[in-house]
Amino acid sequence: MYISKSFIPILKNNPSEAKIKSHQLMLRVGMIKQSSAGIYSWLPLGFKVMKKIERIVREEQNNIGVQEILMPTIQSSEIWKESGRYEDYGEEMLRIKDRQDREMLYGPTNEELVTDIFRSSIKSYKSLPQLLYHIQWKFRDEIRPRFGIMRCREFYMKDAYSFDVSDEEANFSYNKFFLSYLKTFKRLNLTAIPMAADTGPIGGSLSHEFIILADTGESKIFTDKRVFELSTDDAKLEKNSLLNMRKKYEQYYSVTDEKFKKDEFEKNVSEKNRLITKGIEVGHIFYFGDKYSKPMGASVDLPGGKKDFVKMGSYGIGVSRLVGAIIEAKYDEKNEVMKWPISVAPYDIAIIPMINKNDNTALDQANKIYLELEKNNIDAIIDDTDENFSSKIKKMNLIGAPYQIIIGKKSDGHLLEFKEVGKDSQKIKLQNIIKIITEQKVKN
Ligand code: ATP
Ligand code: MG
Repeated sequence: MYISKSFIPILKNNPSEAKIKSHQLMLRVGMIKQSSAGIYSWLPLGFKVMKKIERIVREEQNNIGVQEILMPTIQSSEIWKESGRYEDYGEEMLRIKDRQDREMLYGPTNEELVTDIFRSSIKSYKSLPQLLYHIQWKFRDEIRPRFGIMRCREFYMKDAYSFDVSDEEANFSYNKFFLSYLKTFKRLNLTAIPMAADTGPIGGSLSHEFIILADTGESKIFTDKRVFELSTDDAKLEKNSLLNMRKKYEQYYSVTDEKFKKDEFEKNVSEKNRLITKGIEVGHIFYFGDKYSKPMGASVDLPGGKKDFVKMGSYGIGVSRLVGAIIEAKYDEKNEVMKWPISVAPYDIAIIPMINKNDNTALDQANKIYLELEKNNIDAIIDDTDENFSSKIKKMNLIGAPYQIIIGKKSDGHLLEFKEVGKDSQKIKLQNIIKIITEQKVKN
């Protein structure tokens, strides 16, 4: 992409309405544009990052055997009346009437709709488990939308649903998602901690929130530091292995303030391991048994001939919120430098030529490099404008490609000034740059 032809409307200064750094950066480099309170358009830079996050989320769902579907954004009120949530959900639900005066709504979540899909086709325990997900826009009329896309009204969410024959099998499904969430966030270069949580309006008995640490987060958390040392490396997609993995995580006290009990915290966590801080919720999983299947009559035939209601869970990841969460974790606001993890970076590398009025040497060289990178599937952004050098660097630091090639006045053909953002620059050949970046992309 050439900066001169791009739609990346960069602002000179931080917009004053933005209170946290992700909102500041997203407006500053034109990743999003607000269209009305809590509702945003996604511009090319922001959209690119979100789509890359979505791809990783999708791959990790597919890896545990969840099947992708797509449910509509607009739902009928009928199924919500069956579950009893049409009243309960309250003002967060955006209610709409169609021309026949039928009550419709913009889906805030999909337990009812997916239960309706399930009950119309699945009749026997032999077809279980069923694991389904979709990635779709949601609308919640939040009382106080704030912090840009972190708490907005229209947002993009991956939500998955599990259907099982028994509590034991349902627990297995729950643990598969537990594992896939830890893997997903790791691929996004985030350390997310699973925390015992309240179930809220979704209901049910078992629930974990996945939280990343950030001072600007809205969740207050109390945790045992040792949880940060755990990994999922030895977990297999098999019942006992997953049970052990969850036990490993649950051995350390980790809760949000809704579940916090001072005496328990102090009894279970030594003083040096206590961490009280704030975090951002990026995912939330629930087990709620027959809370929806019972009122909606979603049952299956059991081996002995009897029938029973299916046991369900639901599993959400805030795909659009993750864009902001990654910025909160990675943006150095003091120096105004963003470095996206290569797996979701809007561009792999920035090419910054120093252009003199009557001399195209640097730009010509930049163009050649650009073409060579393109041939090797490396997505570059090149600043072909005649702005001064330091404002070019500033701009690219905000856009946040993790690597830069700087082409000065007297660059010597073969060796290029190459820099991984945040590290010292080095003089190396283009072929080596391609090798370094390709290796990083394959790894992530
Ligand atoms: P919160 O406590 O932040 O309101 P929630 O518990 O209501 O979240 P869930 O119903 O579990 O959220 O939704 C799943 C995920 O969707 C959340 O973990 C979060 O990442 C994301 N999400 C929820 N509400 C919003 C919102 N208003 N704006 C952006 N993302 C959201
Ligand atoms: Mg909420």
